[in-house]
Amino acid sequence: MRNQTQFIVELSKLAGNYSKLKKLTPKNETIFMVKANAYGHGLVEIVDFAYKNLGIREFGVASIGEAITLRKALIKEPFEIYVFSDLELGIKKCEEAYTDFRIIPVIANFLDLELVLNNKNFKFMPLFLKLNTGMNRLGFAQKDWQKLIQKLQEKNIKEIYHLCTHFSSSFYPVSENKKIEEQLAAFNNAKKLFRDNQINIKYSSVANSGAIEQGIGLAETHVRPGIMLYGPSCLERTKSSWSGESISRLSTYILDKFEIKKGESFGYADTKIDQDGVMLILPVGYGDGVTRNYRGVKISYKNQIGEVVGRINMDMIYLFFKEAKLESFKIGDAILVWGHDQKDVISIADIAGTITYEIFCQISLRVPKIYKI
Ligand SMILES: *Cc1c(COP(=O)(O)O)cnc(C)c1O
Repeated sequence: MRNQTQFIVELSKLAGNYSKLKKLTPKNETIFMVKANAYGHGLVEIVDFAYKNLGIREFGVASIGEAITLRKALIKEPFEIYVFSDLELGIKKCEEAYTDFRIIPVIANFLDLELVLNNKNFKFMPLFLKLNTGMNRLGFAQKDWQKLIQKLQEKNIKEIYHLCTHFSSSFYPVSENKKIEEQLAAFNNAKKLFRDNQINIKYSSVANSGAIEQGIGLAETHVRPGIMLYGPSCLERTKSSWSGESISRLSTYILDKFEIKKGESFGYADTKIDQDGVMLILPVGYGDGVTRNYRGVKISYKNQIGEVVGRINMDMIYLFFKEAKLESFKIGDAILVWGHDQKDVISIADIAGTITYEIFCQISLRVPKIYKI
């Protein structure tokens, strides 16, 4: 039980972000990416809300384990689950999970394709394929597309349920990013190749958040947003018009406070402070996912802006307010590490030298998740 340090998820903000997404993608179906525990926000709670309240019917995870967790928790709900990377199709009990729980693997290599095509239990499994159009991670490589078509023809397959690819750098502005155009062109070539060989493509998708924000890849039937639905824009080196709000806030409180004078030291390693001010102790640290690279992060309290200083501990951080008055801080008062303004978590990620995805994902189980509608 922990009452004053909480990761609070406002589900109404997810609804708000989704309706903003729909304005950008009125014609597309959504595969909501909920891997890594819904980017740290709680897999089951997020999907339950998105399915029942937002009408999202398709969800993407990374591993078969995540897919099984989701199916077992929401056993009666007939939404689709796609596993995008860690399939483990070769493991018997995983293979059975796909067919028993209707979980759809995204096939990205010939080994898995053979397993699926030669297993009669997969006879009615929709064929979801991933192509490598230049990112060079997972997916059938361009040089193998002809061979892929041949394999499908040998098995008399006339339709691909869903064809997808993934962009390597959709978070960079399209204007200075030839790669995204090359990948799109390659994907269009692939679609033509399948159709020229009498293989129909029922659905297709290419766009993750960066692409959607820039209006790229919306000609396909589906989009696959992740981070933008949790709030922040993911564009780098350019301004975004995405006005999503962080669906979470990380709330903690003032555990203790003291005055500190220039030249005095505090905490592990006897770090010296170089100005007079007030030091607050907040009861979050790397054990909560407020990692050691939070040093320098700005956190505000009643219009005063403090900075995380010194060594980050497992259970506590120091928040320093220069030239502040001790009386203006009240022990027990709530403090937000980040709030719902997407700029908060983006600024933390920038200062911590990482991306918002990681800031969300790393919040640990010690911080209770609270859901509000
Ligand atoms: C994670 C993921 C996405 C979503 O990416 P965002 O940048 O979070 O929008 C889309 N497609 C695939 C295959 C993914 O793994």
